[in-house]
Amino acid sequence: MDKSIAVDIGFIGLGANLGDPVATLSSALSQIAELAHVELLACSSFYDSVPMGPSEQPNYTNAVCKISTTLDGLSLLKQLQHIEQTHGRIRTGDHWGPRTLDLDLLILGNQTYHTDELTLPHYGMQGREFVLVPMFELQPDLLMPDNTPIAKWVSECDVSQLRRISLN
Ligand code: ADP
Ligand code: MG
Repeated sequence: MDKSIAVDIGFIGLGANLGDPVATLSSALSQIAELAHVELLACSSFYDSVPMGPSEQPNYTNAVCKISTTLDGLSLLKQLQHIEQTHGRIRTGDHWGPRTLDLDLLILGNQTYHTDELTLPHYGMQGREFVLVPMFELQPDLLMPDNTPIAKWVSECDVSQLRRISLN
């Protein structure tokens, strides 16, 4: 009998535009690193980006982290939502509205989900420079869900307003 446990490599997108976003993202990364059955492998630089959707809100700070885990997507999502809540995230139902912390599960091995609660791979990676550029930084040879090299998706997005933040 095969007793091996499947380990998947995953990518999580982090974003915040209220409070102290850099501190929030740093703290969320520590919380991700402490999750049971999750190993934090790497985190991208932090980036300053202009908001998608409603524009009368502060710029975002974004990053992507790479993990390995034996968790299934839904269990991991619930852990991420718990971390969001510890940062005072209130779900207003406002898509793309301002938030203290947003954690999106982008890719988790070959796992796929097609429900409202979890769409995996995440439906909105293509065209989102604040997701693709940090992901590319972590793994430049990554293939996107349709097998397109991430470099192609990066080359197709508008990076003119994305700024890498240098942290001291
Ligand atoms: P958004 O990130 O699109 O601005 P929210 O963070 O408020 O919006 O998420 C809305 C809903 O999206 C959540 O209730 C969550 O269950 C669902 N969702 C579906 N797929 C994913 C995913 N891959 N990662 C994170 N949330 C997801
Ligand atoms: Mg989200």
